[in-house]
Amino acid sequence: MRVFDRIDHVGVAVQEIDSALELWRDGFKLDVAHREIVEDQGVEAVLLNVGENHIELLAPLGPDTPVGKFLAKRGPGMHHIAYQVPDIEATLQQLAEAGLPLIDKTPRVGIGGALVAFLEPKGTGRVLTEIVQPADGEGH
Ligand code: ZN
Repeated sequence: MRVFDRIDHVGVAVQEIDSALELWRDGFKLDVAHREIVEDQGVEAVLLNVGENHIELLAPLGPDTPVGKFLAKRGPGMHHIAYQVPDIEATLQQLAEAGLPLIDKTPRVGIGGALVAFLEPKGTGRVLTEIVQPADGEGH
């Protein structure tokens, strides 16, 4: 059985949300679905709709945050791919059984109240990979 069958979003690291929106909202005419500051992840995040999928813009709240360090090292650009799953606990178990190293062995609450977990990039060809179980009622 395949582990993933849908991309939820592609995460993009940006220096600052409002100037990034000049491209993504004003240039590409994508609708902003959600905007939120997630203090414990040290980011301000925006989700834009692309059909059933999203682009997630991530701006750091400071230089010592994970996204702040990413920007210092690699500059702005693609940050991660997120796959949507109906049962994140079952997916984490499947991935662990397949021998993939997990950053989050149990899900945590992410943007918009979704449950999220990240895989270790060293196990995924350095493509930071997130899995997302959307919050109830967000059904997409
Ligand atoms: Zn994400």
